[in-house]
Amino acid sequence: MAFDIVVVGAGPAGLCFARSLAGSGLRIALVERQDEAALAAPADDGREIAITHRSRQLLQSLGLWDRIDGEHIGTLREALVLDGRDRDGLIFSPALAGAQQLGWLLSNHAIRRAAFDEVATLPDVQLYAGVKVASVRAAADGAAVALDGGETLRAGLVVAADSRFSETRRAAGIGASMHDFGKTMLVLRMRHEATHAQTAWEWFGEGQTLALLPLHDPHVSSVVLTLPPRQMQALLARDDAALGADMAQRFLHRLGAMEVAGPRCAYPLVGVYAHRFVADRVALLGDAAVGMHPVTAHGFNFGLLGQDALARGLRRALDGSVPFWSPSVLRRYERGHRAATLPLYLATQVLAGLYTDDRPPARVLRKLALGAGARLPPFRRMVVDGLVAANDGGRSRRRRAGA
Ligand SMILES: Cc1cc2nc3c(=O)[nH]c(=O)nc-3n(C[C@H](O)[C@H](O)[C@H](O)COP(=O)(O)OP(=O)(O)OC[C@H]3O[C@@H](n4cnc5c(N)ncnc54)[C@H](O)[C@@H]3O)c2cc1C
Repeated sequence: MAFDIVVVGAGPAGLCFARSLAGSGLRIALVERQDEAALAAPADDGREIAITHRSRQLLQSLGLWDRIDGEHIGTLREALVLDGRDRDGLIFSPALAGAQQLGWLLSNHAIRRAAFDEVATLPDVQLYAGVKVASVRAAADGAAVALDGGETLRAGLVVAADSRFSETRRAAGIGASMHDFGKTMLVLRMRHEATHAQTAWEWFGEGQTLALLPLHDPHVSSVVLTLPPRQMQALLARDDAALGADMAQRFLHRLGAMEVAGPRCAYPLVGVYAHRFVADRVALLGDAAVGMHPVTAHGFNFGLLGQDALARGLRRALDGSVPFWSPSVLRRYERGHRAATLPLYLATQVLAGLYTDDRPPARVLRKLALGAGARLPPFRRMVVDGLVAANDGGRSRRRRAGA
């Protein structure tokens, strides 16, 4: 079969990209190893995705936002960063950027379902689900993706959206910097006595990192705990009652009693940054290009930005005089997406290293960093601006300046 584009991976990034090209006239094959039933009703993977204002706009324009049930949307009003047993921490308030809230929290399975439902309506997208890729060939004269069943899909461009451990990236000969933090992250929905007040917590304790993400119900949050793998295994072996009591203790009972209210989902922490985002007839998207450590909550936000940039670039080419798969078109995407992601990727690696290291110098640095952040309102404003900035050309900042 011949297509214009073969997208490998129908995760959030691949699906959003296919949706972004709706009506462009490009014929797209979407190849996914999970079967169609799993895509149509994705399992709850425990991830609650913090969404920036810009990402919300993109999800609205793609038609996904309206497909997500209100119970899967939490309000992220402000964020609090705590160190050790300190009661006071660094507060990131939306007021610093003249906004009402920092962002939203959406359940990842709800995003995936909405994206699948949206793409299922598109006549130009053909889904190959429950299929394994046997080989990928991409060169200046074209690309071909051979499937395990024997069928070969020919295309002008192959897009790799098959996760941070992308096999398509490897098949295209593109390497990646990978950093294994040697830690496991547990995400777990929990019910707690006190209200979360729509505030996210990032809490750096000794030997552990905790986060609390406020969900729709004021007494339910997503708890995120990072531990060395062996300690995590021991924790996961406990029953629900013991796990609830353990978590309440870890949170120093600041939320009162806590009980398990969702599946236990554990993820190895590995940061990945591809050496290149494009090659002849190949482009990388989503985590296949940039696999962020979740501490700064930006993986999917970057995935959304990237797919939007690539889709816009291809549309511009269709309106112009160069083929959509031209090296110049792909290189422009690469330049833009690298500039948009590399600074935060590097900063996140440093931050994640600093906050998961309990040797005395790191503890001192942490205190200094939090203290400096508290004394330097411009720093906090910069962080908040990054979250609330929409594609409004910085209207929120101008509003504030004019206020
Ligand atoms: C605990 C946790 C919390 C997170 N929190 C946030 C957050 O708050 N904010 C945020 O922005 N991001 C967050 N992220 C990151 C976000 O979840 C990812 O960036 C996002 O899911 C990546 O989407 P993707 O489509 O690129 O990849 P994936 O979601 O990994 O999807 C890849 C798809 O490709 C398929 N696939 C893989 N290999 C093949 C193959 N060979 N052939 C065919 N199909 C294949 C897979 O089955 C899958 O469907 C978090 C991540 C984790 C782990």
